[in-house]
This record gives sequence, structure tokens and C-alpha cells, in this order.
Amino acid sequence: MARADLQIDLDAVTANWTALDAMSGPATETSAVVKADAYGLGAEAVGSALAAAGVRTFFVALAEEGAKLREAVGSGPRIAILSGLMPGDADLLRRFNLTPCLNSSEQVYDFVNLLPDHSCGFQVDSGMNRLGLEAAELADCIERFPSLAPAFVMSHLACADEPGHPMNAAQHAAFAALSAMTGLARRSLAATGGILLGPDFHHDLTRPGVGLFGGLPFREAKPVVTLALPVIQVRDVAAGEAVGYGAAWTAPAPCRIATLAAGYADGLIRAMGSGRISLFAGDTPCPLVGRVSMDLITVDVTALPDVPPMLEILNRHQTVNDLAHAAGTIGYEILTSLGNRYARTYRGGAL
Ligand SMILES: *Cc1c(COP(=O)(O)O)cnc(C)c1O
Repeated sequence: MARADLQIDLDAVTANWTALDAMSGPATETSAVVKADAYGLGAEAVGSALAAAGVRTFFVALAEEGAKLREAVGSGPRIAILSGLMPGDADLLRRFNLTPCLNSSEQVYDFVNLLPDHSCGFQVDSGMNRLGLEAAELADCIERFPSLAPAFVMSHLACADEPGHPMNAAQHAAFAALSAMTGLARRSLAATGGILLGPDFHHDLTRPGVGLFGGLPFREAKPVVTLALPVIQVRDVAAGEAVGYGAAWTAPAPCRIATLAAGYADGLIRAMGSGRISLFAGDTPCPLVGRVSMDLITVDVTALPDVPPMLEILNRHQTVNDLAHAAGTIGYEILTSLGNRYARTYRGGAL
């Protein structure tokens, strides 16, 4: 049987980066955030395509992710580690030339001891209370280590996907005060949502992630993923017969049901079940009916004269944002849940 095929359009990824770079403005560098294996799409392929398109700074969450990415993108780009300097990571940071975003006094002290001649950035907390140095810690570190020169100072917005939220202005002001303490370091506040908030939020460096991969809040993004699932079996079901676990769906009329080889173990979140989404044969939608099982879904294909060997669940008609809406979650979670049983194939990129 054919394997489920997750196609990733690298030209769409680089087009999305180019669009976000244009919005960021000519005085601002646009980086790329490729943590969690480029939001599930494969950091090596995505990273190489973005480096070829002109990305000079990448962000990942963990040192191990940085080491892998370094092998894909070569020695040129800066690779910054959002979790900073974690215990045991100094060798990896040195060996792969990774730049930790230092998040606490403790990380700054460790850095000065373990990696005195290495590059670093500072992450400051402008109000999200998740990661980053607070004002008093930052002042203390600057006083203790006056020669420590971070390459950049960054912070992260909690509510950038809600342009009217008062947190945005509050964090902008807090970041202005904190970053002023670090002298000449380049400043970075905006991820995808922050870029869309406008030039006040762009500073010297922007950090888009989800927008590169077709996720909201970047509405104009080109869709990046196509996911086709193999049909295992097709059966005729009489009116009144039930389909799937819990007998949760009953055929209202005679119909044909196709059973496909993917389920919630592959990231098809169970909450997106019965009637909320479709599978596509070309442009023809066929509703998913019954509950999502671990490895299987069932689809009403009555509308199709012939059932093709594969049906699409992600394409230009139905994006990660639509699946997220149906499942009551966000595009980020749909992307990072895309299963390891899918064969990932790539289109485009500078191959
Ligand atoms: C994940 C992340 C980003 C990218 O955010 P998107 O909303 O995906 O654009 C940027 N900065 C930090 C600190 C992050 O954790």
C-alpha cells in the first residue's frame, strides 16, 4: 500500500519568508524560527531552502536542534538557541557555534564561566513571564560583566495575534526600557504576529515562525503542506447503519464509506471528527464521518464516481488553519502534530 504522503512546498516557505521580510522593512533583518523540526516539516530541508533564500539568522529551541541545523545550513548563518545555556550544553554550543539567548542571571554566570569568548544574546522578560531576564537581573549582569556584549537583546509578545490587546503596547514600552540598558545590542521583539502589528514593533530583527509555514495570523501566507492519505477499503453502507467507534455516526441514506490509513496517532486530532472537515478527491470534498480512530478515519465518498487510491486532507482547499479551527486548536499544534509515519517529500527549494 502507498504510504501517506506529506508534501512540503519549499518555494511556498521561501515566498512566505520573502513576504514577511518585505513587511519587516529594509532596515530590519528577518530571521527564521525553525524550532521543533521547523514546526514538524523538517528543519534540514526547510533550513537549507531558507538559507539559500537569504536567511542569515535562525532560531531553534534546543541546542540539539541547533547542532542538527548547523550541519544543514553550513557555517555562515547565526543559529540562536531560545532556551539559552542549559546545564551540559556548553560543549555543543562551542562545537557547533550556537548562540545562546541567555534567560536568567544563572545562565549569564554560567556563560561567563564556561564560554567566555563565545557569542550570546540576551532574552528579557517584557511581561509574558515565561523566559527572560527581569530588569533587576539585567542591571546586575551588566554591572558585574561590563565587557559582555550580547549580539542582540530580544523579548517575546504574549498577545501579538490580537492587535488591539493592551499587552502589546505595555510590552513594547517595557522592552524599550529594558533594551536601552544593553547599549548597542540589536533589538528584536516581533514574531509573525508582531510583524503584522506594524513598523513600531520591527526594531532591528524580526523572528517569524508559523507564518513561514502557512499558519495564522499571517492570512496572506501561501499554503505549504499537502497531505494525501491512502484508501485501504471502500464499502457500501445501508441507511441506518452506524460507522466507527461509539456508533457515533449513522448513515442517513445508502452511502459509500472509504477507510483511510491515518488517525490521531498521526496528528489527526480526534476532536476534528464527524462532519467538521473533508477529504478531497481533486476539488471534490468528501466529509469525514464517524470518530477518528488511532490509525484510521472513515470518509463518505458517495459523491465520487471512482474512489482514487489517495484522498487529500491538507491542500489549497483545506489548510492547517481549517483543521485547527475544526479541532478547537491552533495551526501551530496541527503542524507540530503531523505524524512521523508520513513520508515527507519536498518540492522546490534551491536544489
Ligand atoms: C516560537 C517563537 C517565535 C516564532 O513565533 P511565531 O508565532 O511562530 O512566528 C519567535 N520568538 C520566540 C521567542 C518563540 O518562542
